[in-house]
Amino acid sequence: MLEGVGVTTSRPAYVQPDGTSMYSAGSLFQLLRDGRPRTRAELAAETGLARSTVTQRVDALLASNLIGPADKAASTGGRPPTRFAFNPNARYVLAADIGATHARLAITDLAAQVLAQSADDLLVAAGPETVLDWVDRTGHELIRQAGRDPADLLGVGIGLPGPVEHSTGRPVSPPIMPGWDGFDVQGYLQDRFGGVVALVDNDVNIMALGEHNVAWSDAPHMMFVKVATGIGSGLISDGRLHRGAQGAAGDMGHLQLPHGADIVCRCGNTGCLEAVASGAAIAAKLAARGMQASTSFDVVALARGGNIEALQLLRQAGRDIGEVLAAAVSLFNPSVIVIGGSLSQAGEHLIAGVREIVYRRSLPLATQDLRIVQSTTGDRAGIIGAAVMVIDHALAPAQVDYLMSATPAAMS
Ligand SMILES: [Zn+2]
Repeated sequence: MLEGVGVTTSRPAYVQPDGTSMYSAGSLFQLLRDGRPRTRAELAAETGLARSTVTQRVDALLASNLIGPADKAASTGGRPPTRFAFNPNARYVLAADIGATHARLAITDLAAQVLAQSADDLLVAAGPETVLDWVDRTGHELIRQAGRDPADLLGVGIGLPGPVEHSTGRPVSPPIMPGWDGFDVQGYLQDRFGGVVALVDNDVNIMALGEHNVAWSDAPHMMFVKVATGIGSGLISDGRLHRGAQGAAGDMGHLQLPHGADIVCRCGNTGCLEAVASGAAIAAKLAARGMQASTSFDVVALARGGNIEALQLLRQAGRDIGEVLAAAVSLFNPSVIVIGGSLSQAGEHLIAGVREIVYRRSLPLATQDLRIVQSTTGDRAGIIGAAVMVIDHALAPAQVDYLMSATPAAMS
């Protein structure tokens, strides 16, 4: 008797703390970001929205090009397409990974797939103008080579090899970056790239984002450890990067090892993990024994060549890193620890040392499902992470709603 008498199952719309209504076009878009095509009916069922509302939202998203028709057969048959999917090519992102002596730059689509890239030897110590002018010049060159419209650039992400206050994008007393302290990196890049969003973070945080996005998106609690010239880590907590109050979370290189008290670190303290177990520290130990080694790449080369002393030192460095990580495991309880950075390319000895100590020193509950693995993204982690940082920011619900309100075509 009551059949069809205005009874609907749609949820009441409500306004979220950031001002967007639940399942605004921007919120609806989040469902489609997994890439799976859906029909209007499926979207209505998934959200509880009325079909007419879904149609309105889908039309706006289609006009913005952020989604597109997914059924090629239907779209060529003269009938309106019925399924829609995320269109990662709607816009693109410029991603930069600046190291101490080397810089990489890439254009990626909105799924963080690299479309074009470039790399160069570049000293970060040359100062912010020199380095960011390279990003400006090389970035515009890549955009031209890729045949993309400069107006479709969604944003610029950049990772720097030193502490960064993420909210302002300014480096804070970075030890190996003279001239960068307090420099307005965001403002400089926005100026050069038509006012698009520019986000800055330290290199380890963006590597953590990149590795998580590519290999561990199903592991909400991940720790990424970079072992290279220095040592640092990035923490993914509940699927998001945990930066801490000032952006300094994960800076584990200067935690003190109990047995390293006689070794002076470049930070002025003694016994820092980085002074004992980094690539630079191992290279110095090998050089003191008469071997040709001055960088972590030399250490990797010696280890790959089967040099026993290099392998032993790597194993011991793994144990030293493991001492600090055992404490981190108890505090943070990750389900996976990824070991990356140039020294991780030396083979299993480093990771074997880490595992040896972490599994012995941490409590059973924290280690029963804990995996300690090598990075799969290698030297691409930073580029992918810098892109992910921009994409996650710019494609969040409120930003998408804003983007579409600024696109007149979307309102038709
Ligand atoms: Zn130190």
